[in-house]
Amino acid sequence: MRLPREVVVGDGSLRLAADVCRSLGFLKSALVITGPKTIHVAGRRIIDLLQSEGLEVHCHIISSSSATLNDVKEAEEKIKAYQPQVVFGVGGGTKIDIAKLSSAYQNVPFISVPTTASHDSMASPFASIKGTGRPYSIKAQSPIAVIADTSIIMNAPYRFTASGCGDVISKITSTRDWKLAHEKRDEYYAQYTSSLASMSAKHVIDNANLIKPGSEEGVRVLLEALVSCGVAMCIAGTSKPCSGSEHLFSHALDLIAPNHGLHGEQCGLGTIMMAALHEIDWEVVRDTLRMVGAPVSAEEIGIEDKYIVEALVKAREIRPERYTILNEKPLTRKSARQLAKKTGVIN
Ligand SMILES: [Zn+2]
Repeated sequence: MRLPREVVVGDGSLRLAADVCRSLGFLKSALVITGPKTIHVAGRRIIDLLQSEGLEVHCHIISSSSATLNDVKEAEEKIKAYQPQVVFGVGGGTKIDIAKLSSAYQNVPFISVPTTASHDSMASPFASIKGTGRPYSIKAQSPIAVIADTSIIMNAPYRFTASGCGDVISKITSTRDWKLAHEKRDEYYAQYTSSLASMSAKHVIDNANLIKPGSEEGVRVLLEALVSCGVAMCIAGTSKPCSGSEHLFSHALDLIAPNHGLHGEQCGLGTIMMAALHEIDWEVVRDTLRMVGAPVSAEEIGIEDKYIVEALVKAREIRPERYTILNEKPLTRKSARQLAKKTGVIN
């Protein structure tokens, strides 16, 4: 079990970057992996802070907007060239995932500095990378520290925050799918880890009224939940507590729909429908998403209804080894359409 040793969440927590490095014994060198925009949002400040502490700091800017295996290889070359004691990933999901996987491959510890809260990768050991032949995330390494500055995340477009709520609420169904796999397939299952993940979803449901544009308190609630989800995956050593049938649906959409929503937005829609399939209260899922301003229909994301139906049918094939409610109740085109209509995801 590898867990983050330092998690700093709060207003202005970025300024503690050098303190975190010191307490972890990184006194000599660091590599900051960031993007052309996020260098200005947070990357430059991290570099300045570490340099003023006497660290030798290099910076690698990734300009592509999606994380590919090529980006990971390029980052690995920088790590080999500079030999840093620690790698910082500063940015949204893609920069963090590239930093996480390249540092894992090069056996260098990794510190996660999210500039958005759009999904639960910031504290998890998994990374989503294109070109691996798998549309879902692969094992990288747990961050040794997470520094999440609420004032920076609040300045990101609110759509990212709402999307993060979708990824957290998906634990309502992912934990049920995990339990089902245990009951039906005798797969490894840990009650404690499962509770940690579902508690994160409950935390967001209970505090949904706080999550709105301009609310620092709301961002903090969401970050606590996202970090807990990441830790649940660190403990379990698998993404199962946080990724079930609703994620398979989102991955299927990524493959077939020409227009994509954000990961968390798609998982939110998936959770509404998979909750209905699990025969639990799907309306509370939808109402929470609506309250935080996340999409609750295909139309709100800009995805045509036919792709929703197709993704529901295809979801089961994305990761055949992962047993979920979709194995228990396989969907046909007809039953998929009914499910999406009943829950209001399509018209
Ligand atoms: Zn997710």
